[in-house]
Amino acid sequence: MQKQADRVVQILKSKGLRVTPQRFAVYANLLSRQDHPTAEAILHDLNQDAPTSSQATVYLTLQALRDAGLVREVLLEQGVCRYDANVQPHHHFRCKCCGKIEDIAWNAFEGIGFEQIRSGLKVDNYEVTVSGVCDRCQQN
Ligand SMILES: [Zn+2]
Ligand SMILES: [Zn+2]
Repeated sequence: MQKQADRVVQILKSKGLRVTPQRFAVYANLLSRQDHPTAEAILHDLNQDAPTSSQATVYLTLQALRDAGLVREVLLEQGVCRYDANVQPHHHFRCKCCGKIEDIAWNAFEGIGFEQIRSGLKVDNYEVTVSGVCDRCQQN
């Protein structure tokens, strides 16, 4: 646990961010999960330990982490912003029942061709979103 805490502090510092308790808590929370939580879900988690965080501080903290390139916003649902501490290129699976989002490895769709795209358009990036039903929802 201490090692993980040191790592979080180190990463924040390496991006030139001052390490505040809020930044530490929000980033550590995001690193510990893969479900792409909303800001509200992070706030809910943090306040279970000690009800000290406000929605505004969590939003500001997420903004600072995003601006530093440590966190990305994932917008797969209209009006719902989720957060991801995995900033490497990857794709997403979205469960249409519970809304949970799971990472898919970048090389999972190797060989996608762009031949059908109009020739005037220069592609430099893409991302695949797969939707369906997650294992947990299939059981229910
Ligand atoms: Zn689900
Ligand atoms: Zn992701």
